[in-house]
Amino acid sequence: MSFKDLKLNRPLLRAVAEAGYDNPTLVQEKTIPLILGKRDIIVSAQTGTGKTAAFALPILQSLFDRQDAPKKGKQVKALIISPTRELASQIEENFKTYSTYTNLRTAVVFGGISIEPQKEVLKKGIDILIATPGRLLDLHKQDFVNLDYVETLVLDEADLMLDMGFIDDVKKIERLCTKEKQVLLFSATIPYKVEQLANSILTNPERIEV
Ligand code: AMP
Repeated sequence: MSFKDLKLNRPLLRAVAEAGYDNPTLVQEKTIPLILGKRDIIVSAQTGTGKTAAFALPILQSLFDRQDAPKKGKQVKALIISPTRELASQIEENFKTYSTYTNLRTAVVFGGISIEPQKEVLKKGIDILIATPGRLLDLHKQDFVNLDYVETLVLDEADLMLDMGFIDDVKKIERLCTKEKQVLLFSATIPYKVEQLANSILTNPERIEV
């Protein structure tokens, strides 16, 4: 299978080719069609399988395909929650690489550094936000981020997120987004507590194991 078979548009195909990817990895083959079909999914995949592109590419594809109404133009439409700042930064780098030939705007916010520059970035309006839970809730409380237009919520490394004690924050974030959104849960392992979280926030999810 090729990326073209996955029905990715030209700007994405070009970026993927320039990144040196010849063909989709297994997790990408399995998840990209489901995500484009707006399904909720639970994916058990380790880092190194290409799981970031597995959610980043279809998210970019969906947003690129659609010309948003002006009122939605400056709002966050895809939100990716990551447990650590290192992971969040890596995810953002991936989104930046794949979106080179689109005009979609991406930003990352995490704790442990000054919040002020992050407020400035958010004020300009962005399409895709990658965040750690605590800092996102801070920025939301201070009214610098609006989650009313989030269409796709990604929980990356869900097992690690729960191990780090972010369960309540994650649930709070989920409730701040609209009800109709698509939810994608990625986790290296699916222990019982991840299963419970999935049951409480995903709708009729498809399961993928790689
Ligand atoms: P991840 O599992 O998302 O951490 O990705 C692991 C590594 O695989 C990253 O360095 C990606 O740039 C790379 N990668 C992702 N998709 C592909 C692909 N289809 N072909 C080759 N490398 C890829």
